[in-house]
Amino acid sequence: MPIKLDQITAALPGYRADDLRVDIAQQAIARLITPIADIERLPLKQALGRVLAADLVSPIDVPSHDNSAMDGYALRGSDLGTGNVTLAVVGKAFAGHPYAQPVLPGQCVRIMTGAVIPSGCDSVIPQELVLQASERDVTIAAGSLQPGANRRLAGEDLRAGSVALQGGRLLTPSDLGLAASLGIGELNVVRRLRVAFFSTGDELRSIGQPLDTGCVYDSNRYTLQAMLERAGFEAIDLGVVRDDPASLEAALRAACGQADAVLTTGGVSAGDADYTRALMERLGEVLFWKIAMRPGRPMAVGRLQSDGPQALFFGLPGNPVAVMASFYFFARDALYRLAGASPPALPLLRASSTAPIRKRPGRTEFQRGVLHTGDNGEALVTLTGAQGSGILSSMSDANCMVVLGHGQGDVAAGDAVGIIPFHGLV
Ligand code: AMP
Ligand code: MG
Repeated sequence: MPIKLDQITAALPGYRADDLRVDIAQQAIARLITPIADIERLPLKQALGRVLAADLVSPIDVPSHDNSAMDGYALRGSDLGTGNVTLAVVGKAFAGHPYAQPVLPGQCVRIMTGAVIPSGCDSVIPQELVLQASERDVTIAAGSLQPGANRRLAGEDLRAGSVALQGGRLLTPSDLGLAASLGIGELNVVRRLRVAFFSTGDELRSIGQPLDTGCVYDSNRYTLQAMLERAGFEAIDLGVVRDDPASLEAALRAACGQADAVLTTGGVSAGDADYTRALMERLGEVLFWKIAMRPGRPMAVGRLQSDGPQALFFGLPGNPVAVMASFYFFARDALYRLAGASPPALPLLRASSTAPIRKRPGRTEFQRGVLHTGDNGEALVTLTGAQGSGILSSMSDANCMVVLGHGQGDVAAGDAVGIIPFHGLV
């Protein structure tokens, strides 16, 4: 087994398992990960959201020739003078149909957007800027065109031999278009990460079962499955597991036997941690943390092994909102790293709070908010109401997380706060 987890964390300045700052927990997790390296080759149309396995080098210049940015006339810039100039129209260049002859001084070519600039020419005058045009000639007023204007240069988008897309990217729609523009129809991507998950709790009932007194329907598995799928991972649902050591051990063994990572919810808070700790010590190495955050204080992180290779393990809290916050701010990034991706940090924007917010310094809070636009176009954010870690409707009502940093105290109405929008653009 590689370096022990507690050796890794001991080397982190500010590490304290029982009151761990969010940023230090994130750094600790990043150090625990060894990415998977299995690669598969996929047609472009199946590669959206997948992790590009290695740098994609452009085999060609894009565009491959100098071409026109406008509909107009291609000409030699040196023909333009201090007075009006009349040039003979000697031919036509359309996209896909180049004008093959060299263009001589005093001549020009009718050209359409995207057509190859004929040899000898270096500029294009848009048709609406010429003084006079007929089939035979055009007249251009002095000063109406800079030599070199309206020409797209070969290779101005990408040069042959340059890196078009960096390995580790999560492929976006524009990436797939870019690969296609290079004539590349298949990409090497990292195989899809397999993530097994289950809920724990004697009080949990599955949909369709009667809801006995004190019981709740298991919602975490649905949230988790959806978050995993949206992130592009293969989600393996192992159901609800009772709070007893034998069932838990069997479930954990089954999970790490078939997945690269295992997520569980519930059973890591102070009272439960003792027996899960003993069990997990038999299966691998797990760190139990109390994170200085709200919602989502308890969390366990480690690696487990049954028969097969090691699996990354996250024991998330039980409360439904805490599950989502812990997933988004810890597990998601870790799973991407495990999948060989280097995901960009979630964008932290600023918006003015429309109302005061109570906030205790000494922990990071992820409150649920609605980002909206004020009368002058300014970004405003309003909390969704009750912020308890079990109130899942606060997530459904929200469109952003309001991130109140570790040292932050109470927020006054009108103060700027950090927000992370739920939805990215591409
Ligand atoms: P625990 O961390 O196991 O103590 O759970 C904390 C709270 O979250 C309890 O009120 C549980 O009933 C609730 N909870 C735990 N797991 C789930 C689940 N899968 N779905 C909905 N609520 C849950
Ligand atoms: Mg529980």
